[in-house]
Amino acid sequence: MTTPPPLLLWFRNDLRPGDNPAFAAAVATATEQKTSLIAFYCHDETSPSFRPLGGAVRWWLHQSLTALGADLAAYGIPLVLRQGAAATVVPSLVTETGARQLFWNRRYEAAEIAVDTALKADLTARGVQVASSNAALLVEPWEVKTGQGKPFQVFSPFWKTARPLAANRAPLPQPPVQRLSEAPAVASDALAAWGFLPTRPDWAAGLREAWTPGSAGAQARLSQFLMTALKSYADRRDRPDLPATSGLSPHLRFGEIGPRQIWAATDLACQGQLTERGPESFTRELGWREFSYHLLYHQPQIATRPIRAQFEAFPWQADEAVLRAWQKGLTGYPIVDAGMRQLWQTGWMHNRVRMLVGSLLVKHLLQPWQAGEEWFWDTLVDADPASNPASWQWVAGCGADAAPYFRIFNPVLQGEKFDPEGDYVRRWVPELARMPAAFIHKPWDAPTLVLREAGVQLGHTYPKPCIGLSEGRDRALAAFHALSPAE
Ligand code: FAD
Repeated sequence: MTTPPPLLLWFRNDLRPGDNPAFAAAVATATEQKTSLIAFYCHDETSPSFRPLGGAVRWWLHQSLTALGADLAAYGIPLVLRQGAAATVVPSLVTETGARQLFWNRRYEAAEIAVDTALKADLTARGVQVASSNAALLVEPWEVKTGQGKPFQVFSPFWKTARPLAANRAPLPQPPVQRLSEAPAVASDALAAWGFLPTRPDWAAGLREAWTPGSAGAQARLSQFLMTALKSYADRRDRPDLPATSGLSPHLRFGEIGPRQIWAATDLACQGQLTERGPESFTRELGWREFSYHLLYHQPQIATRPIRAQFEAFPWQADEAVLRAWQKGLTGYPIVDAGMRQLWQTGWMHNRVRMLVGSLLVKHLLQPWQAGEEWFWDTLVDADPASNPASWQWVAGCGADAAPYFRIFNPVLQGEKFDPEGDYVRRWVPELARMPAAFIHKPWDAPTLVLREAGVQLGHTYPKPCIGLSEGRDRALAAFHALSPAE
């Protein structure tokens, strides 16, 4: 009797064994056919329409693939690593292994969809069965439409329609650990050879300290959040000085945990009371992630082109020196600088502070939102092709459901409101550590004696504000009013 050929399982942004429909189907089929399963990850940056991954995400991906390899080893499934265009790599693996069945979970970027569609047609024509599933979203972008049959542009009606569907999507259990038939040996790249880890310099020490990539790390973070912060989430989620949010975003980025798992665990933790303030507010944030994917799918140019077309003509004043000061956390606005340094050191920034740093850059400093989006793309461990551009467009006022352009955050008032004791600033901007709370968000207003006692010399130990708040605000509003009104 001849052994049936091995099955192939393609991991993409779904690096987990639990609630992974492609993995579950592949393991079930391999068990049924008494055959082996070969998993692979293809690092594909060859197509010009594929956006190269940023540095922080590369670091994360290295760790995440290592963790996935260990998860799969328990099943006796090898994880093969290949680099190059998927259109070449995948057919070549099919030929090398003789596989007749391939499993994957769907992706939502236009370039990825084009690759997957062409591959599916090519392989099907060669008699290879391709099965695709949904691991990443509660509600896929084509599942909900407005009353007029169009994609949603505004979050609230989107969520009103999508939430009842989301609430009914139970996660799949992880297949019981069992050793499958031994897979034939297939050549694999060495992960280290992909060069995802920074060496000269090794800037990743803060990332290593802050995160445990992999599905086990994701589950641990979820449990910790549900036990300690879910209840108070609605009241404390805007406080960057408190550990009040889940920190699940980088785990979600590569699918080390899925939104159905988070939803179900939240439901369990609050004993089915999802409409209570904490759980309601938390699941709504998952809804914003869903909405971002809805936008990305229906507006594929979201990372580069404003959704509101009149913003194409916005008179940005791109300036390298200004951008660099912002990137380095040297704007002279403490809450902004704290956020930019938290980002640099840990690869993550609190959501409220992301809004503040974005607003200062785009509005007071008139830098194009794409410059901020790119910096986040390179430095965030959760840099996401949907949430990052959608959020930048929201901040800039040119997005679908954006804050109106004329609503300009005041970083001093916001700092005083959301970091009332200044602890967040003290943690990330050590040169202000000894400033009293009354002046920590506006050191330029502090009396000379207070500055001296805190060891602060404005313009020497810490910068003076890079722009006056009312000057920047007036300039931004004038630029906005010069735009032609929306059609
Ligand atoms: P929690 O408050 O615990 O929320 C749970 C989950 O909900 C998050 O992990 C995330 O997946 C989702 N979520 C929460 N808020 C949002 C939101 N506003 N939009 C979309 N999803 C949300 N999020 C990313 O995942 N990747 C990005 O690249 C990204 N870039 C951003 C850029 C800007 C300018 C802004 C203002 C926001 C951005 N966000 C991005 C959204 C948000 O800041 C992060 O998702 C959140 O801070 C992650 O922290 P958390 O996991 O503790 O969130």
